Amino acid sequence: MKTNQAIAMLCLLGSMLPAAAFDFGSIDWKKAAEAVQKVQKANADINEPQEISLGEGIASNLLGAAPLLDNPPVQEYVNRVGRWLTLQTERPDLPWQFGVLDDNDVNAFSAPGGYVFITKGLLAQMNSEAELAGVLAHEISHVLRKHHLQAIKKGARTELLADLANDAIRSNGGDPRFSKLVSAGTEVYARGLDKQDEFEADRMGVVIAARAGYDPYGLPAVLQTLQSINPSDSSVALMFKTHPALADRLSLLDQEMTGHFANQENQPDLAPRFFKAMGISRK
Ligand SMILES: [Zn+2]
Repeated sequence: MKTNQAIAMLCLLGSMLPAAAFDFGSIDWKKAAEAVQKVQKANADINEPQEISLGEGIASNLLGAAPLLDNPPVQEYVNRVGRWLTLQTERPDLPWQFGVLDDNDVNAFSAPGGYVFITKGLLAQMNSEAELAGVLAHEISHVLRKHHLQAIKKGARTELLADLANDAIRSNGGDPRFSKLVSAGTEVYARGLDKQDEFEADRMGVVIAARAGYDPYGLPAVLQTLQSINPSDSSVALMFKTHPALADRLSLLDQEMTGHFANQENQPDLAPRFFKAMGISRK
């Protein structure tokens, strides 16, 4: 759109000049082309390798704050569930990676390009693989819809973002300006996303989980469990601060889901598999 406007402007300027006085030789075509290119670049979305590279930087920042849980079977299990879910999405080929953070806080995050983290504190609140699938599918939806990327873009001029991302690809992330962008991206995690993005991730998450064969009510079940935690408990402070109220999320999901997911009675009981994978005997 802006490119078209820029071209229209150039044409208009040309038509305003008297034909005889119009000296084509005086136009710096290189400069004009550069100007148009700049406008085009500002409008262009950052591409997939740039998205992945930015997400990698953010993911390593998040891992700096909380390391991965040293429990390979649990990590492998969460990856297996997560990757199965991603196969049901429109971006199955992203380099999806799932990690359990060694953190007692109750939370889950994702970063551009396919990084999804869940804390062991949140896993401890779950009672079934369907609940895990619901939470992972919510995070996967943030990646699919590029919610974090959009939040980062809001804070930085798109042109700058594209430049930095390009440089980062060339310099393998070694550019200090890229680190700045990554920390700007990481700040989004302290602020939280738009409420509408969270609601969208809830809606999409339920659909992805259902497509993967899970009980779609896994996500609402987790949200209900979280409602029973005292909101003043420090382990839920960040999650509550960065997400819409649980009651709002649950009532929206209820509206969306009612009548859409029939016959949940035939669902297999995935609780035993979940507890076995977690290495704990059933509660
Ligand atoms: Zn979310």
